[in-house]
Formats: sequence, structure tokens, C-alpha cells
Amino acid sequence: MSKVLLIGAGGVGTVVAHKMAALPEVFSEILIASRTKAKCDAIAERIGSKRVKTARVDADNVPELVKLIRSFGPDIVVNVALPYQDLHIMDACLETGVAYLDTANYEPPEEAKFEYSWQWAYQERYRKAGLTAILGCGFDPGVTSVFTAYAAKHHFDEIHYLDIVDCNAGDHGKPFATNFNPEINIREVTQKGKYWENGKWVYTEPHEIHKPLNYPGIGPKESYVIYHEELESLVKNFPTLKRARFWMTFGQEYLTHLRVIQNIGMAGIEPVMFEGREIVPIQFLKAVLPNPGDLGENYKGWTSIGCRIKGIKDGRGKTYYVYNNCSHEEAYRETGTQAVSYTTGVPAAIGTMMYLKGLWKQPGVFNVEEFDPDPFMEQLNLQGLPWVELHDVDLEL
Ligand code: NDP
Repeated sequence: MSKVLLIGAGGVGTVVAHKMAALPEVFSEILIASRTKAKCDAIAERIGSKRVKTARVDADNVPELVKLIRSFGPDIVVNVALPYQDLHIMDACLETGVAYLDTANYEPPEEAKFEYSWQWAYQERYRKAGLTAILGCGFDPGVTSVFTAYAAKHHFDEIHYLDIVDCNAGDHGKPFATNFNPEINIREVTQKGKYWENGKWVYTEPHEIHKPLNYPGIGPKESYVIYHEELESLVKNFPTLKRARFWMTFGQEYLTHLRVIQNIGMAGIEPVMFEGREIVPIQFLKAVLPNPGDLGENYKGWTSIGCRIKGIKDGRGKTYYVYNNCSHEEAYRETGTQAVSYTTGVPAAIGTMMYLKGLWKQPGVFNVEEFDPDPFMEQLNLQGLPWVELHDVDLEL
């Protein structure tokens, strides 16, 4: 019997709840808690299972979290709220002696900067308490990190060049929308670019490096080097890497909207006075943009996310490409959300399963590539995110 407290009731939370509810032999009770209880109730109603309950919680309030965790008694807390809540939820898990899992690293609300230092600083406290914290268990970070670990374990003696390639070739029919939380998404994609080369970080202007890459079943799409959080842990955990980059596709229409949003100050994170009260421009923008959770209904097309790796096997050079293609329409049919929420929520449910089965259970704070990738890879195929491997192909990079 296992109990999971799921915090966050957005697109990703919806998928995690659906997947967990469909696996009663692993997840016997699920409590969905979030700031707006009505959103938790709507998810529970759609699932329609007695094993799914709901509650209201402010995840920035540690005593409130502690009270909820003590009253429900979960085996693990799954955090799919926003990155701002990570440290508060980790604190509450430490105080109550419960394991922790998330999909995005901590980001301070007042500064658009995300890195693992804040969460890695919990290592000793989690280790001493005998508790597991699993960081970054979505698709990227998450599956891309496990793909890298799987490649290093089975196909290479040393990995040297890693290019994570993330393509969303879907069309939601709106002039501009973000595929997950707009505030977090816009903060991420408007940052300066950054990648790892020869033992140090190389910085670029936003979207400075770009080229068309071919995605399987999709074709060529203009792809841009941006900084993405898994690079930080992957270069630490795979020190043979000479270069590690992250590429994401953007359409021209999306980039034009983004440029206008930035130029007119709507991406700002500093509060401004408006009619006698303070508002944060990017938070106001979020309120008027389409809700990512509602994009699914008309979303057509595919996402394709994978790792293109070069390295050495048995003294010879080798290339390897492992990827998953996910259909927006199929994701919607199964869970009522689009593929970006789906590709994040399914791995979070699988990572939780890994913990509950005792396969990813060690005291301390871990990024997912530090665990055995094999049982996770096996579950991806079973839970709706099948992967494909290509050996010794032209990686275009
Ligand atoms: P949404 O904005 O749709 O949902 C976030 C949820 O968190 C909402 O239900 C929101 O409540 C709730 N929430 C926010 N603040 C609090 C709080 N203080 N207390 C309790 N609940 C709170 O986001 P998504 O579902 O799109 O994304 C969820 C997470 O997944 C994000 O952290 C995102 O960065 C991450 N992600 C990771 C990816 C990966 O591949 N690793 C890819 C995509 C997303 P309310 O409804 O009241 O606002």
C-alpha cells in the first residue's frame, strides 16, 4: 500500500494524477493538493476514483504543508507546483520524514535564475535523515537525463558530446501561447544562452546559435541553443563530456511575439505600480495568455525530444540518438492535456513508482541520472512514452 501527496493541479499535475490513478497496484491512495482546491476537484472528478482525494494547501507555507503531510501520512510528496515552492516543500518533507520528488529546479521569484545549488545544499540533511529526494524527474530534465545515463551504461565506454534536442512540432491554433506555466517558460527562454565546452560554461546572447535539425517523422525545424537545467547536473555526473548543449525549436511567430513582449516590458519580474497597487508584469501576462492546460483540445502534431551523443566504444568512435515522439492528440485523448504536460507528468509518475518499488531509494538528494536507468526506461515503454534508438547515424551536430 502506498500513499502519494501530489502538490500542483496544473497541466502536469493532471497527467501525474491520471497515470497514478491508472496503476492501483503501485499507487493505492493519491491526495491532490494545490492553492486552488477547485482545480484539484476538477481533476479528481474527471478521474472518478475513490482512491483520489483533494485538499487545499499553500505550498509556500511550511507549517501548513507539515500539517497536511502529517494528517495524510504519504510515503512520498510529488511536487508539480512551481519551482518557487521547491525549497518550502523540501523543508516540509524533512520535518515530517517523507521522501520528495520534483520536475524543475528551484528558482527564486525575484531573480530569473535557476540552478541546483539551493537544492543540492540539502544533501547532508536528507542523507542524515535517511530520506530520498529525486530532482528533475520530468522529460527535460528527467527522461533526457535517464537517456544519457542509459547511453553511458550500455552503449559507450566514454561519452564526449551530448546534444539534447527538444522539438515541439505541434500546432495549438493560437497566435501565441506557452506550453507550460507562462511565467516559468518565458523566464527560461528569454535568458542568455549557455553551454558546456572543454570544462567551462560558454555564454551566448539569447537564441544566438541556431540551425535546422531534422526530427524523426517531423522533418527539419530551426533549433536554438538555450540553457537548460539538466546540463548542470549532467556535466557533473558525466565528467568525460567535452561539450553539452541543449537545443529547442521555436517558430518565427513565437519568437516575434516573445521579442515584442520583452521590448514592451511585459516579461518584467520587478513589480510596477498600476492604479495604486503593485503588479508584476509577467504575472499579469500569465493571466491574459491562454492557460497551457486548456491548449490540448485543438492541439495537433507531435513533440520529439531526445539525446544525440558521440563518444567511444571499444576504442572506436560511435554516434547514438535516442528519442521519444509524443502525439498531442493522443495525450489529450488519454488525459485531457497536451503533449508537453504529458511528457512531463508521465516521467514524474514513473520516478515515483521507482521510489515506491525501492529501486530509486537511497538517502540523499539525487538527480535522476544517478540512479539505475534500466527499470525507468522499461516503464517509459509501458506507460505511453516509447523510445527509439538509432546507432551510428549522422547527428548533424
Ligand atoms: P501550471 O501553472 O499549469 O500549474 C502549477 C500548479 O501549481 C497550479 O495548480 C498552481 O495553483 C499550483 N501552485 C502554484 N503556487 C502554489 C502554491 N504556493 N501552493 C500550492 N500550489 C501552488 O504549471 P504546469 O503544470 O505547466 O507545470 C508544473 C511544473 O512542471 C512547473 O514547475 C514546471 O516548471 C514543471 N515542468 C517541467 C518540465 C520538465 O520536462 N522537467 C516541463 C514542463 C513543466 P493555481 O492554480 O492556484 O495557480
